[in-house]
Amino acid sequence: MDCDDCLEKLYAFLDQELGSNERKQVASHLEGCTDCGDNLAFEERFLKVIRDCGTSDVAPAELRRRVAERLRSDVPPTTA
Ligand SMILES: [Zn+2]
Repeated sequence: MDCDDCLEKLYAFLDQELGSNERKQVASHLEGCTDCGDNLAFEERFLKVIRDCGTSDVAPAELRRRVAERLRSDVPPTTA
């Protein structure tokens, strides 16, 4: 698993939609990869914001992805 694979599966990982095998692969990549770990922390915060906003239904993945990309573009890159 590389970073692209990991990011692709990040939403499914957070939504507990992965099978145990994929889940293990993503988890072990996240443990060893700071970049993806940062992304995971970002997505977790983002999902929490959505929940805290009182949205009873989880937004569709595509919408969440677009909003996350907009949010992310406002955040200065963490890597120098
Ligand atoms: Zn990675």
